[in-house]
Amino acid sequence: MTRRISVLLCSYYFFLTICTLAPLARAQAADPNHKEAVDIFRELIDINTTDSVGSITDAAKAMQQRFLTAGFPASDMQLLGPNDLKQNLVVRYHGAGGKKPILLIGHLDVVEARRDDWTTDPFQFLTKDGYYYGRGTQDMKESDAILVETLLSLHREGFRPDRDIILALTADEEGGKSNGVNWLVENHRNLIEAEYVLNPDGGGVELRQGKATIFAVDASEKLYADYQLTVTNPGGHSSLPVPDNAIYELADGLERLSHYAFPAELNGVTRAYFETESKIMSGQTADDMRAILKTPPDPDAVKRLSQTPEYNSTLRTTCVATRLDAGHANNALPQRAQAIVNCRILPGHSKEEVRQEIIRVLDSPKIGVKYVGDGADGQGEIFDKAPDKKALPPAAIKPEVMQALQQVAGKMWPGIPIVSTMADGASDGIFTNAAGMPTYGVSGIELESDDVRAHGKDERLPIASYDRGVDFFYDFLKTLTTPH
Ligand SMILES: [Zn+2]
Repeated sequence: MTRRISVLLCSYYFFLTICTLAPLARAQAADPNHKEAVDIFRELIDINTTDSVGSITDAAKAMQQRFLTAGFPASDMQLLGPNDLKQNLVVRYHGAGGKKPILLIGHLDVVEARRDDWTTDPFQFLTKDGYYYGRGTQDMKESDAILVETLLSLHREGFRPDRDIILALTADEEGGKSNGVNWLVENHRNLIEAEYVLNPDGGGVELRQGKATIFAVDASEKLYADYQLTVTNPGGHSSLPVPDNAIYELADGLERLSHYAFPAELNGVTRAYFETESKIMSGQTADDMRAILKTPPDPDAVKRLSQTPEYNSTLRTTCVATRLDAGHANNALPQRAQAIVNCRILPGHSKEEVRQEIIRVLDSPKIGVKYVGDGADGQGEIFDKAPDKKALPPAAIKPEVMQALQQVAGKMWPGIPIVSTMADGASDGIFTNAAGMPTYGVSGIELESDDVRAHGKDERLPIASYDRGVDFFYDFLKTLTTPH
């Protein structure tokens, strides 16, 4: 997924006072670092890492070589994965060791791109009119390069963080069957064990006409799940209708589902959001926000707020029918009627729990409800049951992370609110969160809200945005890990 989409879709945020603190001086000679950062960016874009014909391993090896050349010991690096094309790179930057490590994650794979669709070659890094063009310039090779550059810069100046910093550059976030973060969690947990995780695939700075409006941090994400609803029937001649028509049966079930609302529920992040938002809003909306924070929440206030789609999706799991397919001839009774229902599940609940709830609401033994696998559990495969795994409900962002953000973002984008978001897409954070490592989407990449091209044609990133992204992450990570 992508930060930009999550910024656009983010359903809530809270405003925080930005402290003015002493700016952290960048080490000497910012320019060589920028130049190196662009070289790394170019190298990554030029390596095709699509699932169809690309190689994650080639990109991982290129980055490994950069660390070796810079003097990182070979023993601090691991290249490992389930097959030859999907090798992930894990690098450990040693710190004082007083605290549990911080894990940085970045996916190396990109969404497919066809040369014919694009104005430029998607797998050739191109600088044009103040932009870098290429597949992955927004999602997320720019941030992979920034993560690598940050560690190289810190290493060059002999910086010793207060703890180990681990970098994992991984496979198959966008698709494919070998999700690297999931694979590492399941097979080499010790290599990536951390107190918390920073994932620049989420968050970022939203610009409107060149002006920064919000600094978004993904503090949580909803779980994505598709379900396939099926009714089958012997069918027959359409001149002889029978009561148990497969289409009517399915339509009646969907009708019941359309009137159903999952229970409203708040967690650490959404509670903090509504608290702050209630101070910014006025009138009935502000009153309602205060009223839902009470124990128990005021049901009328929940109802009124739920009429706004963004508040509704913040308050509860949502499910909606997105596809319908039925019948085989105009003059025959349907033998099969099928629908896809897409759900966005609040953290703390499992996909199987939601499947059971859909079955209960459909209230028809004739409608079968199966789970459609995604990324980690078989792309597009149909399963009788959904996974049971659930992520812990999120807590508010850790104070040390928030303080470092306030310090660095407050200096680079003075006066703009730092906004905590719950992404309604899914990133690799789903796996680290599920593994008990709180994961924050943090990035200093600026993007115009109407120039979101992740997954799209002619993907590009402003040169100035990249430079600031490089500066931000360096300052942020250094501030976060400087021994006190
Ligand atoms: Zn992404």
